[in-house]
Amino acid sequence: MKTLGLIGGLSWYSTLVYYRTINQLTNERLGSSHSAKLILYSVDFEEFRLLQNRGDWEEVERMLSGIALQLEKSGAECIVMCTNTPHLVADSIRKKIKIPLLHIAEETAKEIVKKKINKVGLLGTRFTMEHPFFKDRLSEFGIKSIVPDDADKDYIHSSIFNELTRGLFKEDTKNKFLDIIDNLKKEGAEGIVFGCTEFSILINPDECSIPIFETAAIHSKAAVDFALSAEP
Ligand code: GLU
Repeated sequence: MKTLGLIGGLSWYSTLVYYRTINQLTNERLGSSHSAKLILYSVDFEEFRLLQNRGDWEEVERMLSGIALQLEKSGAECIVMCTNTPHLVADSIRKKIKIPLLHIAEETAKEIVKKKINKVGLLGTRFTMEHPFFKDRLSEFGIKSIVPDDADKDYIHSSIFNELTRGLFKEDTKNKFLDIIDNLKKEGAEGIVFGCTEFSILINPDECSIPIFETAAIHSKAAVDFALSAEP
């Protein structure tokens, strides 16, 4: 089994989802008392929240590359950033490390292709919905993406930073998200990308009237596939 290098704390609520999912899947596949080999570097989310707000992506990249290199030196065989937004700087991090970085948008795109879906609604932080790093990855796989209108983008963005990443998961917020999902469906979305790793804590995909692509679950599964693959 290979050792995974996880960058967590973005936020720690969703890092728990990764930690649990990766260990559960590893045990399901290997049985007995098996669990995942991983090194977790968990950051102080407040530092990253402020940098992202200021648009200081250079500093975000510098800090995350440094952590990725430390994980590599400590024996990690791949990097898994347990969050969507910082993938904005994933390409630069990839250039600085020798081990692979499992990209959350690439892994999500592969799952969407498997389900033969051509058009999805993309929900996440404003950074994820507006910068090209996620939607361009989807279009490289032939997938079109649409996002909510400006007011709904604002609502989602502020809910992520004022509630979800602070451990607040409210019924009202969930219902508003479900309305936004219904609107995207009316606009032709055949599936919805939960492009924020905390969404699956707020909403059970079974409550949605349309297929949901949960990035935290998809990314965790990709990490286990990597760890248990035979390739060196
Ligand atoms: N975890 C969230 C995401 O998947 C937001 C955290 C962040 O801004 O880094 O994008």
